[in-house]
Amino acid sequence: MSITGRSAAHATRSGTVTRAATGGQGSAAQSDIADVGPDAVDSWLAEHTVDLVQWRRHIHANPELSRTEFATTEFVSAWLTKAGLTPQKMPNGTGVLCDIGPVDAPRIGLRADMDALPLQEFTGLSFASTVPGVSHACGHDAHTTILLGTALALADQDLPVGVRFVFQPAEEVMPGGAIDMVAAGAMEGVDRIFALHCDPRLEVGRVGIRVGAITSAADTIELVLDSPAGTPRVRI
Ligand SMILES: [Zn+2]
Repeated sequence: MSITGRSAAHATRSGTVTRAATGGQGSAAQSDIADVGPDAVDSWLAEHTVDLVQWRRHIHANPELSRTEFATTEFVSAWLTKAGLTPQKMPNGTGVLCDIGPVDAPRIGLRADMDALPLQEFTGLSFASTVPGVSHACGHDAHTTILLGTALALADQDLPVGVRFVFQPAEEVMPGGAIDMVAAGAMEGVDRIFALHCDPRLEVGRVGIRVGAITSAADTIELVLDSPAGTPRVRI
C-alpha cells in the first residue's frame, strides 16, 4: 500500500465524494496534502525496512486462526502504542482500530486482515510457521505488516484528513470478522475505505486497483421449499 501526496479523496458533508488534485495554484489544504507526500513516507520506509521484514516474519512464524488473533492483536497494538497512538482493541480481543489525523476533517479507512489458514506449511523457511497445521498461506501476515507500517509512517505527519486503520480478524471464515468490526463502529465517521490483498498473479512491484469487490468471497443462501400436500420430491 502506498500513500501518494499528489491527490486525495475528499467527502462533502452529504457524503458525495470528489477528488482534488494538487499542483499549480492549489489551495492551502492541497498544499498540506503535498507536504505529506512520498518523501515523508519514503524516508520512514528507508529507516524501517528491516523492521517491516522482521515484523512480517514474526507474524508469519506465529499464525493464528480466525477469531483467535490475540497475539497478533497485541503485537499490532504494542507498536501503535509505542508510536504514541491510541489503538482500540475490539471487545473480544481480536482486531484493532486506530485513528490518526484531524477529527473535523473527512476520514478514510485503511483495512487489512490478520488471520491465518488451517494449513500445514512445508516451505522450510527460517521463519516458517511454528504452529502445527496453521500457516499464513493467504498473505495476511504481509497485509498486517503493511497496514502497521503505514500507520507508523503516517503517525508523525500533520495530515489534512483523518485516517482510521482497521486491523480486521477472521477474514477466512463465514460470517467474517468484518461484521464484528462494523458492529463495533469501525465504519462510523469513515467516508471512504480501502483494503488490500496480495495477488501472486501480479509481478512484484505492480499494484492492481479496482472499485468494489476484487477477491473471492463466500455467502449463504437459504431455500424454503413448500409442497401443497404429501412428501415433496425435490432434486437440486
Ligand atoms: Zn486472504
